[in-house]
Amino acid sequence: MAEHEHVRVAVIGSGFGGLGAAVRLRREGITDFVVLERAGSVGGTWRDNSYPGCACDVPSHLYSFSFAPNPDWPRTFSGQEHIRAYLEHVADTFGLRPQIRLNHEVVMMRWDGDALRWEIETAQGRLSADVVVSATGPLSDPKTPDIPGLDGFPGKVFHSARWDHDYDLRGKRVAMIGTGASAIQIVPSIQPDVAQLTLFQRTPPWVMPRMDRAITGPERWLHRQLPFTGKARRGLLFGIRELQVTAFTKHPKQLGAIESLAKANMAKAIKDPQLRAKLTPSYRIGCKRILLSSSYYPALAQRNVEVVASGLKEVRGSTVVAADGTEAEVDAIVFGTGFHVTDMPIAERVVGADGITLAEAWKDGMESLRGATAAGFPNWMTIIGPNTGLGNSSMILMIESQLNYLADYMRQLRVLGGRAALGARASAVHAWNRRVQDRMKRTVWNTGGCDSWYLDANGRNTTIWPGTPSEFRRATRAVNLAEYEVVRARAEQETAGDRAGTATGAAEAVA
Ligand SMILES: Cc1cc2nc3c(=O)[nH]c(=O)nc-3n(C[C@H](O)[C@H](O)[C@H](O)COP(=O)(O)OP(=O)(O)OC[C@H]3O[C@@H](n4cnc5c(N)ncnc54)[C@H](O)[C@@H]3O)c2cc1C
Repeated sequence: MAEHEHVRVAVIGSGFGGLGAAVRLRREGITDFVVLERAGSVGGTWRDNSYPGCACDVPSHLYSFSFAPNPDWPRTFSGQEHIRAYLEHVADTFGLRPQIRLNHEVVMMRWDGDALRWEIETAQGRLSADVVVSATGPLSDPKTPDIPGLDGFPGKVFHSARWDHDYDLRGKRVAMIGTGASAIQIVPSIQPDVAQLTLFQRTPPWVMPRMDRAITGPERWLHRQLPFTGKARRGLLFGIRELQVTAFTKHPKQLGAIESLAKANMAKAIKDPQLRAKLTPSYRIGCKRILLSSSYYPALAQRNVEVVASGLKEVRGSTVVAADGTEAEVDAIVFGTGFHVTDMPIAERVVGADGITLAEAWKDGMESLRGATAAGFPNWMTIIGPNTGLGNSSMILMIESQLNYLADYMRQLRVLGGRAALGARASAVHAWNRRVQDRMKRTVWNTGGCDSWYLDANGRNTTIWPGTPSEFRRATRAVNLAEYEVVRARAEQETAGDRAGTATGAAEAVA
């Protein structure tokens, strides 16, 4: 990279969000962009999570881009290697490779109000961009709890998102920490091979059967020959999930009906009443993510598995000790303890117009306008920003909505002329978040009686969208300029005086 290279747009990250943004920019006729990726290959989530059993839990025909349908998904819920290959294929098909800069971790970006651009420092040097699209992922930085004594553990330790494939778990005594979406895929995959598996469970998840099957040759042939059949399949998967949303957002009591299905899923495999009691959640289904597995409970019923209904408290030599005092000697500890979500790590690395970082601006909780932009951070947009998560459907739907918003944002900037930026008005950000939080009050995520990673340190839900994906699609179809101020270069404002007007004045004129 040349020193001080300048581009129209810098996209950070090459998962679904970053690659999707790159394709969308191309479609808008914008070719002056780069994709900065810290890793050595594209794929994001699906590159980093390669643990045994890793697969999506939203059907593949919905968990993929609408503009890049894949008639050849091998299973209804495809595995990590296939999703990763799909993203590599997207990068090739749309000719994105020349613009992707691998091993380019973004370490800092600063808004330059004089030049109206972002100065970006990467692991490989500097560049600047008029617009930054931050697609660094909601679940890309693993979180490992600070456990006393862990440093002195003589065995192997790793996180589910950084699986050590050189370490052979066969015949080992393994402690699995956590019972979230990754853990319930890992447990049945490693249980047959390990000598002993001790599962540390702070809170039991609700687990529904997983309707996974191979997609047959004739089905794939049909999707290849008659693409509308693949679209119809996607439409059906979308529609079913769309109809489920009001139970999560407005009528959580209705979800009670499916708790019995989850209990039946458990009862079929777990015959021991004491173990069943340990595994039965005490909160409303849906409050934490509903997990899908038909092999988790059968694995827990095996003789080499012990479920400890308590979190890991400390490690003493090779002994892991639970908060309830249970002890087990193990050779390896696998953390399935999730990610930094409400404390988005990239926020520490963005310095806005007022000289403060996004993390400082968000010290009381993440807040954005329509999940995308933040007050004080002109021309900076995040993909899968605050309150864009879904409890029951595909995040690709939300990403594509945000790409519509990005496309319109770029169009608006073009209309405003070269030397202008758009900054979200604080009043618009607050109004949007008031509406989001008002709607959140009735949802199962806030009323279901659980503590989850959807909530931040203050107990505020800053991650989930409290509506349907279609509502979000409508809310992000176009940029409402009344919610933005037009930011002009300081020097230009000083010299042009009244002609350019204040930033606010210019915005009012446009709106
Ligand atoms: C195991 C697992 C299973 C999941 N299954 C589903 C599912 O079934 N359905 C669903 O809807 N969602 C699922 N998700 C959520 C998933 O994260 C999103 O669906 C989606 O993949 C997010 O894409 P992204 O591009 O926003 O983020 P990511 O895929 O996380 O990509 C972010 C990229 O940014 C890069 N990056 C981060 N920081 C920097 C930096 N400072 N500089 C440069 N590059 C940086 C990362 O290396 C990464 O490549 C799952 C998540 C996990 C972890």
